[in-house]
Amino acid sequence: MVQLTSDCFAFGGKLTQIDDALKLVLKNLRVRAGSEKIILSRALNKILAEDVVAPQNVPAENNSAVDGYAIFFDDLNESGKTKLPVVGKAAAGRPLNRKQKRGEAVRIFTGAVMPHGVNSENPDTVLMQEDCKLQDGKVIIPAGIKRGSNRRLAGEDITSGACILKEGQRLRPQDIGLAAATGRAFLRVRRPLRVAVFSTGDEVLNPGDRFARGKIYDSNRFTLLNLLTALGCEVEDIGVIPDNPSLIEQAVLSSVEKQDLIITSGGVSTGEEDHVKNLIEKTGELLFWRLAIKPGRPVALGTLKEAFFIGLPGNPVAAMVTFLKIARPIILHLSGAKNIHPRPFLGRTDFEYVKKPERKEYVRVKVREDKTGELVFTKYHKEGAGILSSLVFADGLVELPEDVTKIRKSDIVKYFPFSEFGI
Ligand code: AMP
Ligand code: MG
Repeated sequence: MVQLTSDCFAFGGKLTQIDDALKLVLKNLRVRAGSEKIILSRALNKILAEDVVAPQNVPAENNSAVDGYAIFFDDLNESGKTKLPVVGKAAAGRPLNRKQKRGEAVRIFTGAVMPHGVNSENPDTVLMQEDCKLQDGKVIIPAGIKRGSNRRLAGEDITSGACILKEGQRLRPQDIGLAAATGRAFLRVRRPLRVAVFSTGDEVLNPGDRFARGKIYDSNRFTLLNLLTALGCEVEDIGVIPDNPSLIEQAVLSSVEKQDLIITSGGVSTGEEDHVKNLIEKTGELLFWRLAIKPGRPVALGTLKEAFFIGLPGNPVAAMVTFLKIARPIILHLSGAKNIHPRPFLGRTDFEYVKKPERKEYVRVKVREDKTGELVFTKYHKEGAGILSSLVFADGLVELPEDVTKIRKSDIVKYFPFSEFGI
């Protein structure tokens, strides 16, 4: 195809940079997902809707980190061995049932609270059983032990009153474990965002339908439904709607009341059959529809009654890339998440690439580690926005910023692994 103007200025207007569009949209968008209290066993991957403050110290008291003997450090001879009588036993969950006096040793096990002393003088050191000998009920302690050895301090993990988990974070197994360690049995989390998805196009068939000339099977809806499920959304599958303005309007308006967000694919570029964008302009508010991103470009962002609307391009690679870079942060924001951007990694290309200025481009790559431990990125051998197998080949996306026009072999670039998008 011969293109006389630069892509960025095609259709008579400058494209909006994706970072600018996102910043503007996110600034004016409030969290849509309500909240609910759930038990810890249901909390994985949920977004926290409260700051969690520790109601008590963890550990609650000083305790032993090893199996051995609790002693007063000041009872030890500075230069030689020390012999102390063993007067009792403290085990995990079974504290010593009396006070420990100066000159005494207590047999102690891992996790047992340190015995209390007399007159605010407390045993402060634990000897590892491997480091001493037991003879006639007495423990023989070598010189050179340090004060406070093998003793865990109260509150050394979590201090009472500290904020241990923050509103807006997605709960990982270790986060839920930390809440449990402070005695919390329930957490307040965000309810799933309700999202409806449909595909548009006269050519689009459902997998399982009998194939016919000129048709294609719908892949986008299945990619998108699963991307949304992976983000924790409650998804409604509306199916395929033909390129018919009134059918598209019916599908959108019948689901809009129940949904926080509607996502479509196809029908947002400039062709005559691109009815989705027209509908948003007519019945809602279209915020942006041409963003400076490849693969992608036609991405419609808008609102329709109370719901947010995202119209993704029909080409399967463009649909997934624009979902990850544009729809995903919006969905996370609407869901109450604070950490909405993936973290990039740096590495080197093993390919050359030419691109147009003033738009971000995403290259589908496989990653490997070279001899020096550096990441090296290999591009798929085909580039089209319809080559869905490239996304199956790839481990992630290399991002080429607006000002770059050329990539040489071994250039350092930013890479986003799919795992950073949670997939
Ligand atoms: P459109 O954005 O509607 O102009 O579509 C652009 C290209 O993507 C066309 O080749 C469509 O056939 C294709 N396409 C549209 N929707 C889908 C879909 N749901 N699954 C796979 N390909 C699609
Ligand atoms: Mg179409």
